[in-house]
Amino acid sequence: MSPDPGASNRSAIERGARVMPGGVSSPMRAFRGVGGTPVFVRSAHGAYLVAEDGREYVDYICSYGPHIFGHRPAPVIAAIERALAATTTFGAPTVAEIELAETLCSAFAAMDMVRLVSSGTEATMSALRLARAATGRARVVKFTGCYHGHADAFLVAAGSGAATLGVPSSPGVPAAVVADTLLADYNNLDAVTRLFAQQGEDIAAVIVEPIAGNMGLVPPIPGFLAGLRALCDAHGAVLIFDEVMTGFRVAWGGAQNLFAIEPDLTTLGKVIGGGLPLAAYGGRRELMERIAPAGPVYQAGTLSGNPLAVAAGHAQLQALRADDQAAYDHLEQTGARLAAGLEASARSHGIALTISRFGSMMGLFFTAGPVRNLADVDASDRQRFARVFHRMLAAGVHLPPSPYETLFLTIAHGRAEIDHTLEAFDRALASEAASDDASEECPHPP
Ligand SMILES: *Cc1c(COP(=O)(O)O)cnc(C)c1O
Repeated sequence: MSPDPGASNRSAIERGARVMPGGVSSPMRAFRGVGGTPVFVRSAHGAYLVAEDGREYVDYICSYGPHIFGHRPAPVIAAIERALAATTTFGAPTVAEIELAETLCSAFAAMDMVRLVSSGTEATMSALRLARAATGRARVVKFTGCYHGHADAFLVAAGSGAATLGVPSSPGVPAAVVADTLLADYNNLDAVTRLFAQQGEDIAAVIVEPIAGNMGLVPPIPGFLAGLRALCDAHGAVLIFDEVMTGFRVAWGGAQNLFAIEPDLTTLGKVIGGGLPLAAYGGRRELMERIAPAGPVYQAGTLSGNPLAVAAGHAQLQALRADDQAAYDHLEQTGARLAAGLEASARSHGIALTISRFGSMMGLFFTAGPVRNLADVDASDRQRFARVFHRMLAAGVHLPPSPYETLFLTIAHGRAEIDHTLEAFDRALASEAASDDASEECPHPP
């Protein structure tokens, strides 16, 4: 371990930023949400990340969702090694893809057929194209604070609370491309009802994260998802559940299984790839048969159904299946213990904290709550989050570097890791409480 733990990370990000935008391959990794220098990782095992400088961190990023057993689960590694012996990609169909597709269709009651792709972005983008083709309509309803990958149609900024016409949230997205993207606040069924009343004839699809995981974790309020199902039925629109994050994470068969609501199309990713690039979209047969070459809706990919990714993903799903409910029960217990400990700590230090949780997914907001939509997340104390994040990082706990990201637990997170996390959190909140008191006593903060 080097004497200055930050030194190797600082020199790496400077070197990286000369040849890669921000020094990273995806923006969240650059720590802009919390400031400071990201940890450069050289390996990982179980619940731990190992940094370039040798320091180890309890990992709550878990690659933003793919890892459910922890890093390097033996069945997944063995399956990749077996597949690797046959080559890395064929560009021809394989039986292994059919086997994975059969597993996906058997897990999801609402999935008769499925197409494999390489990223969640591709899955949602293709599902929207299919919904538009099937309905002959252009508009899509999306919720403020839900993330569906970086395809143009979904890159729309938050409205001002009321449902409003989309405004691009990134330069390079033409206004015309998002003119058909309608926004509503998450958990606001009335807003969606109004959109359908005004423009129902033009709405091809409603896309929603059935448990929102890209503004921290925000669960659906009772009746919200069922209400979307009813509105789509009444107006002939396609209901898309984006389960890229929640699929196989919250339950076998995803959030739709927990809530017993069947969407028309489902998008998957993250867990189904076992850490390799694999995603999927699927649903009712009459919709999926419109996809090329069975039907006219074009969608393709050089590396789609990649044999290494299919092997890794299917091995991970088979391991989950073999555990039956045990894996999910274990994750639920670990999550409950972590949440209870964090909440007890906050209470004892008099710090407002709202924890939202579904099994192994958790949102951590410094606010008295409730947290029901993006505005509630925005109103939380994000400076406090950043300070606590860095205090925990210094103590060897790597939270996701933004209050807008979900924490993930794995089977590898055991008692020792949870205890270590709770101790680090308690010390971080003690420091927070002490500086809160100091600033109250000092009328003119320096
Ligand atoms: C991660 C995520 C995506 C995008 O997946 P990528 O593989 O990063 O393109 C889409 N939707 C949801 C809900 C996600 O969590």
